[in-house]
Amino acid sequence: MKRPHFGLQARFLCAAGGAVLVVIAIVVVLLARQAAAQRELLQASGSVVSQVFDHSVREQGRSLAESLADALVNPLYYSDLDAIGVLVRSTASQKSVSYVLVHDAEGRLIHDGSVEVAGYGRRMRDPLAAGAIGAEALRVQESPMVLEMDLPVRVGDQRIGGLRLGMDLAQLRAQEAEAMSALAQRMGEASRRQLGWAALMLMVLVGFACLMALYVQRTLVRPIRWLGAAARRIEAGDYHLEQQDTGRGDEVGELLHAFGRMSQSIARHDREVRRMAYTDSLTGLTNRLAFREALDHRLLAARAHGQGLALLFIDIDEFKRVNDTLGHEAGDDALLQFAQRIALAVEQDGGEEAMLARFGGDEFVILIGNDAGRVETMATALAKRLVADLEHPLEVQGREIFLGSSIGISLFPEDAADASELLKNGDIAMYQAKLAGKHCFHYYSRALDHAVGRRLHLEQELRGAWERNELQLVYQPIFRTLDRMPVGGEALLRWQHPVLGLVPPSIFIDIAEQSGLIQSLGPKVLRAACMQAAKWPRNAAGEALFVSVNVSPRQLHSGELVAAVEQGLKASGLDASRLHLELTETAVIGDEMLAATLLEKLHRTGVKVWLDDFGTGFSGLSHLRQVPVDGVKIDKSFVADLQRDPDDLALTTAIISMAHALGITAVAEGIEQPAQLELLSERGCDLVQGYWLASPLDPEALVCLLQSPSAAG
Ligand code: C2E
Ligand code: MG
Ligand code: MG
Repeated sequence: MKRPHFGLQARFLCAAGGAVLVVIAIVVVLLARQAAAQRELLQASGSVVSQVFDHSVREQGRSLAESLADALVNPLYYSDLDAIGVLVRSTASQKSVSYVLVHDAEGRLIHDGSVEVAGYGRRMRDPLAAGAIGAEALRVQESPMVLEMDLPVRVGDQRIGGLRLGMDLAQLRAQEAEAMSALAQRMGEASRRQLGWAALMLMVLVGFACLMALYVQRTLVRPIRWLGAAARRIEAGDYHLEQQDTGRGDEVGELLHAFGRMSQSIARHDREVRRMAYTDSLTGLTNRLAFREALDHRLLAARAHGQGLALLFIDIDEFKRVNDTLGHEAGDDALLQFAQRIALAVEQDGGEEAMLARFGGDEFVILIGNDAGRVETMATALAKRLVADLEHPLEVQGREIFLGSSIGISLFPEDAADASELLKNGDIAMYQAKLAGKHCFHYYSRALDHAVGRRLHLEQELRGAWERNELQLVYQPIFRTLDRMPVGGEALLRWQHPVLGLVPPSIFIDIAEQSGLIQSLGPKVLRAACMQAAKWPRNAAGEALFVSVNVSPRQLHSGELVAAVEQGLKASGLDASRLHLELTETAVIGDEMLAATLLEKLHRTGVKVWLDDFGTGFSGLSHLRQVPVDGVKIDKSFVADLQRDPDDLALTTAIISMAHALGITAVAEGIEQPAQLELLSERGCDLVQGYWLASPLDPEALVCLLQSPSAAG
């Protein structure tokens, strides 16, 4: 982010500069005003001074004139020129007196203070003479250079002459000017001093503003800039700020502290979020995201050091069953136990650099690394141990659960050049392990894979498999419990793939159902089973055997099932009562009304309907009342645990009683031990099926079995 152009400090400097400018302007205006006032003052004092001077010169002139006039009365009366001369000279000698003239009553000059009195007896003709001669009392006349006092000299009422006294104005003006210039000089000095002070104050002000700017920079701008930079770093994901220990107790110090605390708490929060984002919440193991990131680094390092890596892809076999039958809580519990077992094995046998992650669902991934030669040996040993460890029963909700695992192993650099390829091939290898019969591990094989693309490839392979005769039906005999007589056979589909070998129905039936292939496959199976059953000989008791065909939920809901059944029966000539359809519980769960109508339609064709894998779904026993079926097949997982698990025994007993109460047949599948058969027959189970009695057989083998005298078990 760019630093703001007009920052706090710049603003503060502008404001301070503005304030200083305003102060300077005010000072300038004040100084100008003061200068003007000084000028006015000077003018005013000039006029006062000249008035004062004027007044004093007038007063002085008058008193001089009056005392001289008094002294002149006698000498003038007696025309004593000498005495007049003495008087006139003594007055005229005064500094401020310019001239003294004494004249007679007619205006003729009598004395002017000189020795010879050059103008004696001559009439005075100067501009002020007329006014002076006519003056009856004191008269003041002014010319530019002189202020003249005129005064008559009298004896009684008789005017015997007059006196003219000229005061020197030029000198007065000079004195006046001198005083004024002294005043002006003083004032100028004062205003210069003023200016000096003002300049000093301004300098102090500017200095103060600079100090303030520095202070603001240190106490405000710098911390705020630090906060800004820190915020930008936090924004960029860097939470490690150097601690700002300013020791300040003010608001900014508080803010810095709070910010520091906030960044620490964000860092903590971030770590927590990362931990949560990178760990699996259930098991606490690394999750897919974190594993992917780490895998990239590990591959880089391995490439650089010429190291070999092995990726083990673990998938729990039939884990879905735990969730479906015991609920998700139990599923979580089982997963946790698996995770612990895997973690222990990895810790002990995985080497120091081993990395374990849960990939979601029931998939776990392990990465082990070693110097090129040994990694494969290590991977094999670890995989063997895991397969063995994970086969041990788990205890979940007080029950023992038997699960296993399929493990795929892909190697770097042999099988993959990058992380996604390594993972993909590990996944494929795991799938190959599943195809190989589960509970085992499998190294990724390019020959097998060869664009397996997993389900997609299988799906492609499955299309047309029937036409290529890769799909066959085998029949597992179903016996009557009472006399161990075979009374029917369940048609089970087998897929013998030319490359992949025997693909288990658990895999391809699932694919067929999900891809919709079952819609075309189902009717073919039905028809083939009917054709086959029509050829079966009767059993030793002379009864005709029924054939039991598995039907997928999709077939039931497509609505074409009834037609397929009718066609199958018609084409084979098989009696409808000899055809049984096995529907899974899940097919009829949810919409019982719809299921009931569909089943009703099926019944009308005369076939029987059984609920397969009963007990594994979510429906309770009461559910049986709502759907019109002719029998239930107790799931083999219950039968497997009959001897060990009292719950399973109780449930099986309840299912049988319930079936009998409803008047329908109880069938048990998956009987592997005589004790199981014993328990079931004690409880009155009608029909039984299982490896211990007979494995799924091809048609010829089934016919053999029916014809052999020992068919009755
Ligand atoms: P299912 O209908 O429950 O079939 C019974 C399964 O139990 C068969 O597995 C059978 O081989 C196996 N089995 C029989 N006796 C024993 C025993 O004593 N112990 C144990 N552990 N298992 C036993 P299979 O053939 O692998 O079939 C698996 C599932 O595939 C079947 O379960 C069925 O749901 C489905 N399936 C098979 N063929 C078809 C078919 O043609 N159409 C449809 N829609 N589904 C089919
Ligand atoms: Mg079945
Ligand atoms: Mg079944």
